[in-house]
Amino acid sequence: MQPDPPRARDRAAELAASLGAVRGRIAAACQSAGRDAGAVTLIAVTKTYPAQDLATLVRLGVSDIGENKDQEAAAKVRTTAQLLAESGDGHAATRWHFVGQLQRRKARSVATYAHAVHSVDRSVLVPLLADAVDRADRAPLDVFVQLSLDGDPNRGGLPADEVPALAEAVAAREQLVLRGLMAVVPIGVDPDVAFAVLADESTRLSSRHPGAIAISAGMSGDFEAAVRHGATHLRVGTALLGRRKQTFG
Ligand SMILES: *Cc1c(COP(=O)(O)O)cnc(C)c1O
Repeated sequence: MQPDPPRARDRAAELAASLGAVRGRIAAACQSAGRDAGAVTLIAVTKTYPAQDLATLVRLGVSDIGENKDQEAAAKVRTTAQLLAESGDGHAATRWHFVGQLQRRKARSVATYAHAVHSVDRSVLVPLLADAVDRADRAPLDVFVQLSLDGDPNRGGLPADEVPALAEAVAAREQLVLRGLMAVVPIGVDPDVAFAVLADESTRLSSRHPGAIAISAGMSGDFEAAVRHGATHLRVGTALLGRRKQTFG
């Protein structure tokens, strides 16, 4: 193995520091909420950042990676595996989370690498994902139903009154595992208010589907509030990797 050039070492040190800081914030938030930090999964959302950064995060112990676009994700899944193989680091435990709006024609590709899809918000995706799991001959795919907290369908998610039917459709498929709900705080809304609504909807969902207790909520700016309201999966980008040059939906 070649020694890392200085710039790669600097970046690795930077990522180690930001990961330590984020883990510290999560631990503190869990402690003040009286929750076990082990009950919260940190997903590093790496969109727009290169596979080198993903490989570095995996070497630092990150087990869950999130991406929001299929083409970018599929390429980075391959490159990250190559980089880790070249450096002799294992990657078998890496779980890939698809967190972006999912187009129908991407379902088949996403099912080839994703451990979980956090953004299922229309019933048409259910048979497509189930068939894609069969085709990929893989373990069942974890599914989060995305709840819209502002009723704006352009931002992804569906209104609360449509969650039960979609959840039912997911639960009816043996290829899919209904894990719970996902949401993004609408711009201008107090995260504590938004996450309280999400927690209520999660309680309703799990009363009907006892296994569907996961809550995917909380980003760089609001994950402490998400932890207060029971989030089990935090999707953190900027606080780990830095500010992105472009903004993505
Ligand atoms: C980009 C993205 C994140 C991470 O956002 P940050 O503010 O950078 O932490 C989380 N969830 C989704 C759905 C995203 O697209």
